[in-house]
Amino acid sequence: MPDQAQTNEALTPIYRSGFGYDVHRLVEGRPLILGGIEVPFEKGLEGHSDADVLLHALIDAVLGAAGLGDIGAHFPSSDASIEGISSLEMLRKVMDMVGATGWRVENVDGTIVAQRPRLSPHTPRMKTAIAEALGVDEDRVNVKSKTTDGLGFAGRGEGMAAYCAVMLAKDT
Ligand code: MG
Repeated sequence: MPDQAQTNEALTPIYRSGFGYDVHRLVEGRPLILGGIEVPFEKGLEGHSDADVLLHALIDAVLGAAGLGDIGAHFPSSDASIEGISSLEMLRKVMDMVGATGWRVENVDGTIVAQRPRLSPHTPRMKTAIAEALGVDEDRVNVKSKTTDGLGFAGRGEGMAAYCAVMLAKDT
């Protein structure tokens, strides 16, 4: 069955992993946008965009896996036209760019580091928003949250950090 063998060979996927990290400061007078949703809290993250620390880590992970640099290169904070931009919109733009070169998302695994508020009740909605922006089923998206036992800037409530790993696949 040489034809079948050739077909299988033609669809053998290749994989690339990516990793992203981000930090934003917590300030008064801003909504808290995390994982593409608004989370009720007395402070929000400061930034040029909506400052969604998890999505920024995710965008860097996707760009990293695709070998396309980083979020700062594609969305420079000097660009006034993107001030206040939704990070979900940035993620969709990045997926258009990455998808055009044949890559698709296999899975995403993200962690938000924050002392407060308690985030686990909100992670299902984050998963939904992220999966929609990525164009994948929700079972390919995992979102976790961690405190730091009060240690460091996150523990003192001065800011939040996020880490994200991504696997991309492409048929060759
Ligand atoms: Mg950022």
